[in-house]
Amino acid sequence: MRKIEHIGIAVKDLESSNELFAKLFGQPSYKIEEVESEGVKTSFFMCGPNKIELLEATNEDSPIAKFIDKKGEGIHHIAFDVENIHEEIERLKKEGFTVLNETPKKGADNKLVAFLHPKSTNGVLIELCQENTDL
Ligand code: ZN
Repeated sequence: MRKIEHIGIAVKDLESSNELFAKLFGQPSYKIEEVESEGVKTSFFMCGPNKIELLEATNEDSPIAKFIDKKGEGIHHIAFDVENIHEEIERLKKEGFTVLNETPKKGADNKLVAFLHPKSTNGVLIELCQENTDL
């Protein structure tokens, strides 16, 4: 893993949260994107070199809807940039982590992504993120 790629925050209402975070950072979201397969609508902000992703559920079965039901709004995941997601998945499996997506999937922001089960990472949902270069 090379660095934190972004931090994901679960929100109930993307529109009002967009306004809130635009005030917080002093600049608006640079991209809003729906990931239909995940049942989420995402919004991205830059804060200096750091990226923040807001996530709103688009249906009741969305993992974001379930997260907010259980825990309320707040930090949902930390995403780490990896050079080769396939190699990283293999490495982490060997280390005993529970990988939720053995085959990486296409996430928001043109990335290939895979998640680690929070039960194997002290309660933190970890996202692996690779620039989508069709590896
Ligand atoms: Zn993310």
